[in-house]
Amino acid sequence: MAPSVIDSVAGLREAVAAWRRDGLTVALVPTMGALHEGHMALVRAARAHGDRTVVSLFVNPTQFAPDEDFALYPRRQTDDLAKLADAGVEAAFMPPTAAIYPPGFATTVRVEGVTAGLEGASRPHFFDGVGTVVTKLLLQCLPDVALFGEKDYQQLVTVRRLVADLDIPCQIEAVPTVRAADGLALSSRNAYLSVEERRIAPKLFEVLTWMATALGEGAASADAIAQGAAALRDAGFARIDYLAACDAETLEPVVRVDVSARVLAAVWLGETRLIDNVPVSLAS
Ligand code: AMP
Repeated sequence: MAPSVIDSVAGLREAVAAWRRDGLTVALVPTMGALHEGHMALVRAARAHGDRTVVSLFVNPTQFAPDEDFALYPRRQTDDLAKLADAGVEAAFMPPTAAIYPPGFATTVRVEGVTAGLEGASRPHFFDGVGTVVTKLLLQCLPDVALFGEKDYQQLVTVRRLVADLDIPCQIEAVPTVRAADGLALSSRNAYLSVEERRIAPKLFEVLTWMATALGEGAASADAIAQGAAALRDAGFARIDYLAACDAETLEPVVRVDVSARVLAAVWLGETRLIDNVPVSLAS
């Protein structure tokens, strides 16, 4: 059955309240639409965690800088709704921008600390936009559980922080990154890649995986990063925004891996920016 399309906060609250009266639990999957198998893994996890699933589809203008791809960002509502219908999602929340940012809107939710490096350093506006929109979506829907992808690892850590700090009564569940057969993390922005760039793109995962193995076997971060960066440049990634080994919880850089850690990167292929990350497993 097709999901109910809800375009107002009042409509969302009404639907959720009706489910709650029936004793049902609610799972929320926030997205910017242009749904792919990565998003659908979140939807499947949501269906396993709650009795009813809401997927929000909102291209959030405040997380894009003026020179970024907000206008170009793929919008595929008909396809998205068909995918959500196939997956058995009950509600698609598709608010117009004015429902999220009405005239006079003047509040920003800023998470400090975990947002300082990595994406936060390369895209200074980004986490204010994400923090604000995620807080709003959680408060509008008040789900029991919300699902986020490890693909955007720093975003996941930031959302966990803001939910804890603001006492938002919602469990946050992480879903592992879904990849194409050649290792490339699925992303709506992969649609921007030329045939040649798409051929190069999986090398990012290859290099991160190699680095994670080296770090797990005791290599110093500085050495692994230097070799990884050289391998990325050789593969054709002309620009590297960051390539880092960080504590998996604090996102502080680690010198040598002896706790749970991740290797994270943002790189450019032509005009397209790709991000990815992998966990480091310690050699036993
Ligand atoms: P987006 O629409 O890009 O804002 O992503 C919405 C949610 O889907 C976020 O929690 C992302 O981390 C998650 N996501 C995006 N791509 C993937 C992927 N390849 N695997 C798992 N989750 C993903």
